[in-house]
Amino acid sequence: DQLISQIAAGEVVERPASALKELLENSLDAGSSDIAVTLGQGGVKLLRVTDDGNGIPHGDLTLALTRHATSKIASLDDLESVASLGFRGEALASIASISRTSITSRHAEASHAWRIAADGGLLGDAAPAALDRGTIVEVQDIYFNTPARRKFLKTEQTEFGHCEEAFRRIALSRPDVGFMLQHNGRALMRLAPGEAKRRFTEVLGPDFSAEAFELDESAGGLRLWGMAAKPTFSRSARDTQYVYVNGRFVRDKLISHAIRQAYQDVLHHDRHPAFALFLELDPTLVDVNVHPSKTEVRFREGQAVHRFIFHALHKALATPVG
Ligand code: ADP
Ligand code: MG
Repeated sequence: DQLISQIAAGEVVERPASALKELLENSLDAGSSDIAVTLGQGGVKLLRVTDDGNGIPHGDLTLALTRHATSKIASLDDLESVASLGFRGEALASIASISRTSITSRHAEASHAWRIAADGGLLGDAAPAALDRGTIVEVQDIYFNTPARRKFLKTEQTEFGHCEEAFRRIALSRPDVGFMLQHNGRALMRLAPGEAKRRFTEVLGPDFSAEAFELDESAGGLRLWGMAAKPTFSRSARDTQYVYVNGRFVRDKLISHAIRQAYQDVLHHDRHPAFALFLELDPTLVDVNVHPSKTEVRFREGQAVHRFIFHALHKALATPVG
């Protein structure tokens, strides 16, 4: 049973970056305003996320590392309109079963913090610890007990790249939250809370902001806002293409298609468009629970969404920038 759950965890937690994404989403769910990420050896040796969120009550610490029905969904109806980012209730348990994980947390109303550790899923007892506020989740030696999965790990630089990308996606979605990223003892990014445009510049680089323009279009209960660049500058290898639906990073064929069509229609090519676009709509009109990695969505009225995105972006691209 233990083995089966470890194999299952290996499927869910595809690589260190997948674990990092889950930890970051948990920190955001906890209402954090400042989140620090520390990585060692591409996240394989160490993934540590420190936040200043609500913390976990002592009585819930064990539960947090155990497979359970998440507290974030009160009823089945909620599944349709999940406001919080995580909802499967097993990310931490999965991560803990294939690593050496510890959680140190101080709940807002507690007089001190508690720490609990799990070694390959074997849970220890909670013990008092020192921490002013918030939560530190530390994941060491991921896949140490799942050699088959460990074999799929790429070089440290590649795994780090995936972690950095997971960090970027989250940081772009929450300019109101401060973030820090450190790898192998070096501070790489320090993002102060502030305006969306400034966050785009800091995360996507000055080249992007220099060429991108802001857009914000609404129609029929749909809103598309963010920044998009006409691809005139020769971009480096990394594509700058970020799409969010109700604050969640997605990869969606329908949206990509609408974006590509708008670029093609206006510029007569769709090579290397760069954009960070946020679609907002009534949560009951979109199903985010399609795939465990949660980057896929399904729209109730896909054609209407496609048409709206195409027209919104088309209008913005066709408007000369002053
Ligand atoms: P889910 O997020 O789907 O509920 P997880 O396994 O990701 O499941 O997390 C389990 C639980 O642990 C969460 O529901 C939450 O109560 C708690 N938790 C995890 N990380 C944090 C954090 N950084 N701050 C506060 N609570 C947390
Ligand atoms: Mg979660």
